[in-house]
Amino acid sequence: MKAIGKFILLDMSEFDSWLQAQTVKRKIMLVQQHHTYIPAYKHFTGSNHFQLCQSMEQAHKERGFAEIAQNFTTFPDGKIMVCRNLNTIPAGIKGANSYGICIENLGNFDKGKDNMSSLQKECIIHITRSLLTRFKLVPSETTVVYHHWYDLNTGKRIAKEGIGSTKACPGTNFFGGNTVEAFKTGLLPLLK
Ligand SMILES: [Zn+2]
Repeated sequence: MKAIGKFILLDMSEFDSWLQAQTVKRKIMLVQQHHTYIPAYKHFTGSNHFQLCQSMEQAHKERGFAEIAQNFTTFPDGKIMVCRNLNTIPAGIKGANSYGICIENLGNFDKGKDNMSSLQKECIIHITRSLLTRFKLVPSETTVVYHHWYDLNTGKRIAKEGIGSTKACPGTNFFGGNTVEAFKTGLLPLLK
């Protein structure tokens, strides 16, 4: 564990005890999955976790946010950065923030872009499972959600793939795809 200001860098093995020690005062009903797009794998040196989070925070502030948008960031080496306090509502998905936890996974997971490392895969599964367990949520497409499933303008879940104005986030190849169907076959079984 290493901390610089509010940013706390944890190994997967340190995450659960860190989480247990937290007092969370708001109701949590879902965990959001995103990819950072930029920074991508080419920007990760293996030791610049803090600099990357500080520059994301700078970029988010320039977009008008009070601080970095996400509660957590995962990295290609399997590490986790605590970013925005769990008691603070994230700025992740319009329509899904009030009761949400926002995870930004560092990389560009669109088809043909970054090939997710096995350590980051393991990390994403680990942190998501731990959060679901902590907040007594059963893994499903309502407790783990992808940014892509929400209309950017209305903040509502899209009724059907291809309808509405959406982002590709967390990437068209995130655990095999960014659709609800891809989630059910690619990521959901790994969360049970
Ligand atoms: Zn996103």
